[in-house]
Parts: sequence; structure tokens; C-alpha cells
Amino acid sequence: MRLLLVEDDVMVASGIKLGLSSAGYAVDWVGTAERAEEVMASETFDAAIIDIGLPRMDGLELTRRLRRAGHTLPMLLLTARDALQDRVHGLDMGADDYMIKPFELPELLARLRALLRRSQAATSAVLSFGGLELDTAYRRATVNGQLLELGPREWTVMEYLLIHAPKPASKEKLLQALTGWDKEITPNAVEVYISRLRGKLEPHGIALRSIRGFGYRVELLDAAA
Ligand code: CA
Repeated sequence: MRLLLVEDDVMVASGIKLGLSSAGYAVDWVGTAERAEEVMASETFDAAIIDIGLPRMDGLELTRRLRRAGHTLPMLLLTARDALQDRVHGLDMGADDYMIKPFELPELLARLRALLRRSQAATSAVLSFGGLELDTAYRRATVNGQLLELGPREWTVMEYLLIHAPKPASKEKLLQALTGWDKEITPNAVEVYISRLRGKLEPHGIALRSIRGFGYRVELLDAAA
């Protein structure tokens, strides 16, 4: 999952970014609403965390403008403790949730998971396909009941494929999901992680089928021939 964090306070931002990264999210951080609009125009994120108190254009105006531009991703606002009016206004502007600063990281993570589940129209924290299960709350993968070790980037790719199953996920979107991890990532990184995942999943009857010119789809091995 790739997140956009919009926060001008360097200390607060680096704390949140560190916490989210440790929880397995790929995080891109920008310090202004203007920069956020720019990156949103060209990149894809699964959710945005937006501080209301930003210089020049504030987080409320940013939220309104992003919704008006057609962005449907979940947006969570960060607000000051006493700013009830801001929170009400924020929800009216199209935000999905808010957190009052200062907050504890586990609560932010829980709210993010809930927002991401809702946006993916999934009712459970567990994504599954065949015998494969990804528990996004506990970040634990199992296949046919056995624990499956996945590196953070392998997890990112697998999660994306499962969210989109049975539809294929585009290679471009998979690459974007990975870029938050590493700006230097090369276009063939997706193939690298797909290949590693195949090595781990095919013995369990799960295939990652290449859709020529588009991307990949998770399938049961019998159906992949
Ligand atoms: Ca701020």
C-alpha cells in the first residue's frame, strides 16, 4: 500500500513516516498542499494523510480540491485538539476520517486499515485467494495454513494483486506501489518480485499469470495453463 503524507512539520512528518514505514506502508511525504496536488496528478496512492495546518493552502482546501479533481482515495485529516470546526468542515470537504494531534501510532494504523478496507470494499482485514491468506492487520501471510515469509516489497506486490483479484493488476500500478519504497527502483523490479513470489507460491498451486502488455493476475495453477 502506498500512502501520501502531507505535513509541513518536519519532526512530526518524519515520526509518522517512520511509523508507517515500519508497519509496511510505502510512504511519500510532501510539505505543502501545492506539492501534494502535483504528485497526485501524476502518481497513484492508496490513501492520503493530510495535516490541516499547512502554509498557504491548508489541508481543508487541499481536500476539497482533490475531491473536485476526481480523486476518490481515502483521505484522513490531522487536526489540532481544539479545532472542532475544522474537523466538521474537513468531513464536509470530503475527508473520510480525522485524527486529533497528538495521537498514538497504533490508532492511526488501525484507522488507516479500516479506511483502506472500506475503499477496497473488503469486509475483512484478511485478503485471500485459494489457500493463500494475507492478514493485513497482523501482516502475516499463510498458504494452506503454513506461514509464508514475504519481504516488504513482495508483500506490497502480493497485496496489490489480491486486492484486484480476479481482475489483473497493471504492471504500471504495481511499479507505482513499489516506488514509495525506493526512488531508484527500475522498471524490471516488478518482474523481479513477481518471479520471487512465483517461486514461493507455485508449489502451493497458486500462479501469477502474465497478461501480455498489461500486468499480472493471480490464478489457481490448474486454471493458469
Ligand atoms: Ca502543520
